[in-house]
Amino acid sequence: MDSKHWIGGKRVDSPATFPDLSPIDGTVIADIARGGAIEVDAAVAAARAAFPCWAGTSRAERARVLHAVADGVERRIDELAALEAADSGSVVRWNRGTMMPRVVRNFRFFADWLTNSLGHPDFHTDGHENHVTWEPAGVCALITPWNAPLMLASWKVAPALAAGNSVVLKPAEWSPLTASLLADIAAEAGLPDGVLNVLQGYGDEVGALLVEHPDLDRISFTGSVATGRLVAAAAGANLTPVRLELGGKSPLLVFADADLDLAVDIAVGQYANAGQFCLAASRVLVDAAIADEFTERFVARGAELRQGDPRDEQTDVGPQIHPEHFARVDGFVLRSLAGGATALLGGGPNADLGGLYYQPTLLTGMAEGAEILTEEVFGPVLTLQTFDTEEQAVAMANGTRFGLCAVVLTGDRDQARRVSGALAAGTVWVNCFYVRDLRAPFGGVKESGIGREGGTWSFDFFCDVKNTVTRH
Ligand code: NAD
Repeated sequence: MDSKHWIGGKRVDSPATFPDLSPIDGTVIADIARGGAIEVDAAVAAARAAFPCWAGTSRAERARVLHAVADGVERRIDELAALEAADSGSVVRWNRGTMMPRVVRNFRFFADWLTNSLGHPDFHTDGHENHVTWEPAGVCALITPWNAPLMLASWKVAPALAAGNSVVLKPAEWSPLTASLLADIAAEAGLPDGVLNVLQGYGDEVGALLVEHPDLDRISFTGSVATGRLVAAAAGANLTPVRLELGGKSPLLVFADADLDLAVDIAVGQYANAGQFCLAASRVLVDAAIADEFTERFVARGAELRQGDPRDEQTDVGPQIHPEHFARVDGFVLRSLAGGATALLGGGPNADLGGLYYQPTLLTGMAEGAEILTEEVFGPVLTLQTFDTEEQAVAMANGTRFGLCAVVLTGDRDQARRVSGALAAGTVWVNCFYVRDLRAPFGGVKESGIGREGGTWSFDFFCDVKNTVTRH
């Protein structure tokens, strides 16, 4: 597996490397180039040099190349799914069935947008025509986290390229391999040299240098709140427009007349990717009237989850990504238990499997204000609390500094409307979870982010909007 940078259409090495460990067994699966200032400058310069030609390429040709990238991903789905399982510990079945098809759809969606979008209408006033156009912005730095690495990269790369920009993609150091393979796929698809560059390295080394670079036109970042603040500060120094997709601590509200089969399905579904996904509705809030029945059914279903090697087709829950992250997750649970919480399910590392396998865990009886109720754990750890009234449920749901998403499970349409209106969240799912039309926006409120991506919102960000006013 090639683990060098991809800059200006060539593989480029760095003097130093760092080991990429598989979460499955800790083996070193690649030595990754450890980029620094020289490689950051080279990648931005390559993107800058490639920009005018790509920006001037017809929409139809850009669409053709993006469809060819989608074709390349589609042909290599099995390889990509296996690589991501080895690199990030995500379950191969999920990678093949959900994540990689989503990568394909992202490229196709933004390719089709180029040929289907009607753009803005012209405005006519007082004998003048106002003609509004989307112009490519320039060089875009795209920084992605370690969970769902290729899917999250495609979410930014596809619209940025479709809009006619050139890109420097910086994948996370714990799961850098599928981004590297994407560079090969894009080159095979005919994307000109320098339009997509992939920069490898340690986050706060290469990432910080990248976002401070003065020759960027856009920064799109997905990751933690703490890093998001640093990225925003660096972007502010250069007045580089920035989008931030940050963490979450989302609530899942189960009202008394909810379909309990669906509620249990969706709640247990929060252990997907071993809880390492930003959307995880990790705070389960249940109406006290049905709490006993819900809990009993949830614990029974949770106990049936098969934890193990993510390459195994039968596995539901894989390992945590890295020993540091595993220790962080365990720390949250240990402190919570020491503070009086009870584990209804799991409650610690999976002793049978060892390694980085952490049991799907459900905690209850937390003290009010406990950190487990307000901090993002990003592991297979859910909390269970009860409420007596709708007002109380909404207040509990909104009681964190995050606002990425929320899930509302109720049989009452009026209640669904009232509650979803009152929730502070970028996305509210009512009696469903995870689905999103690619034309719809995604993003968070409060500390979960700034701005939206998806559909036209991606183009608004990755383009400069120009109004040309002409006298009739
Ligand atoms: P992270 O913030 O540690 O790292 C994200 C990326 O930033 C990595 O590529 C990292 O190398 C890079 N980076 C590190 N320091 C940097 C700096 N100073 N300047 C620029 N880049 C830097 O996040 P993570 O641990 O990789 O990912 C987990 C977090 O991402 C969680 O908080 C999760 O909720 C969030 N996330 C959010 C979304 C969303 O869409 N809102 C999606 C997935 C993950």
